Amino acid sequence: MDVVDILEKSLEILKAYPLCDSCLGRLFAQMGYALENWERGFSIKTMLHMKLVTLFRQGVDVTTDLKSLARIHKPTRRFLSTIGITVEEAQCYICGGLLSNVERFAKEAVSKVDGIEFETFAVGTTIPREILERESEVVKKFLVSTGESIKHEINRRIGKELLRLLGRRVDKQRPNILIKIDLINGKIDIVKNPLLIEGVYLKLSRRISQAKKFGNVKSSLLEKLQYIRDMYGGVEHIIHVSGREDSDARMLGPGRPLVVEIKQPTKYKGLPHLYSDGDVIFIPLGFTTRDEVRKLKEKAKTDIKLYRALVYSDRPLSEEELRKLAELSGKTVVQYTPRRIKRLNPRKKRTRMVYEIVWRFISSHVFELYVRCQGGLYVKEFIHGDGGRTTPSVAEILNTYLEVLELDVLSIE
Ligand SMILES: [Zn+2]
Repeated sequence: MDVVDILEKSLEILKAYPLCDSCLGRLFAQMGYALENWERGFSIKTMLHMKLVTLFRQGVDVTTDLKSLARIHKPTRRFLSTIGITVEEAQCYICGGLLSNVERFAKEAVSKVDGIEFETFAVGTTIPREILERESEVVKKFLVSTGESIKHEINRRIGKELLRLLGRRVDKQRPNILIKIDLINGKIDIVKNPLLIEGVYLKLSRRISQAKKFGNVKSSLLEKLQYIRDMYGGVEHIIHVSGREDSDARMLGPGRPLVVEIKQPTKYKGLPHLYSDGDVIFIPLGFTTRDEVRKLKEKAKTDIKLYRALVYSDRPLSEEELRKLAELSGKTVVQYTPRRIKRLNPRKKRTRMVYEIVWRFISSHVFELYVRCQGGLYVKEFIHGDGGRTTPSVAEILNTYLEVLELDVLSIE
């Protein structure tokens, strides 16, 4: 398509539909480089004006064409008025004038993000359906194949203006905040996306649960981590943990992965400081994504865990007798849901591996166990047998009644 074709096609379109500079120029958006659509439209109209006025002066009757152009071109209206023809200005058929200053929405949005400390953003717009329908009508009627969609132009222009005004980065995949502009009713909403902070925790107390408080639990991890929510000015925080230990079990060694999710934060910068109060240690590592949280939870199922347990036996045991435990190494353990877990179906069966078991005789009634096993094994039940619901078990092998006095997670591999 050369310049003459562009002018001819444009005149044909403008005779059918009055279009603003942007909407006309957008039909040729793929032509040229580094031009805004309104610049293309403005130039086309100027060229058409020059051509038609010249023809008119040469005595060619182009008044119909001039009248069509005059509807959306001020110099042409003024030219026609000098020869006694008055033409009313028309609104753009596609956008109705919206594109003349779509940037004003960006200015309004800026006042709404005041007070939020963010680094990345994205823009989403809702455009009136009639505008999209009118655009597709014009495009189809004139078989335009060189254009850009109006939605794209609006998003691009508002985005560009926001970039200029805010000086932050655009991140379409995972923005800190999403600026939603509804061009139907002019409403602007700011969606503050959650912030995900990953780290590891250690639990040194036997009276700390993950989230809920019950029995003689004195606090929860969730409660202890509220300082992170406060730091980011969120309205709520939740935690995502890779597996769990009982509230009376300690979590030692290198710790367990945990992600803190802050809902509707007003700040997205800076990492929280390390937390340590004698009961709990939390070591923040960095920001993470929803995808990583999913993987973290998935991984808990295939982890290998090392436990330490201090066990009390009803019947006095000899050091010799404990050697029988060797046969539990490499065994598959079948467990019906423990009686203490009421929320799960009691008839549900679980199968887990015990890779290795090591013991230490302390006294005739007390011994220590080290169990390396597949994640998800109910370790307490594996030791005391849960009234026969777990088999094989340590209690079954030793033929005694056992009580787990202490349980620690030493490492998660
Ligand atoms: Zn328009």
